[in-house]
Amino acid sequence: MSESTIFDKIINKEIPATIIYEDELALAFNDINPQAPTHFLVIPKVRIATMNDINEQNSHLVGHLYVVAAKIAAELGFAEDGYRAVMNCNQNGGQTVYHIHLHVLAGKPLGWPPY
Ligand code: C5P
Repeated sequence: MSESTIFDKIINKEIPATIIYEDELALAFNDINPQAPTHFLVIPKVRIATMNDINEQNSHLVGHLYVVAAKIAAELGFAEDGYRAVMNCNQNGGQTVYHIHLHVLAGKPLGWPPY
């Protein structure tokens, strides 16, 4: 799992991103192509390529992404109204960056199903 992605450059501050949260395990930044009034990504600092690579050893990082998402939702004031947190996996899931990321979308009623 050595191949890096553009998200490593964001983690290392080599390219700009609007970072809204950071701790030792995770980073959250606004999506450059927002699909809702609020749309940010929460990523682990350690690269996990896809959801298929989540295992007993790294699953605490995935849990942490949700903790961070909920914390930001509370801080930004959309927790009560609601939001969606989704992780795309591989081609049919619409994944384009192979470093797992939780999309957090909020700010309007979101459609379902997502097609
Ligand atoms: O789930 P998927 O892999 O398609 O999502 C990747 C997301 O990363 C896209 O929503 C894209 O807009 C976002 N992105 C970003 N900043 C970059 C490159 C991609 O916010 N520099």
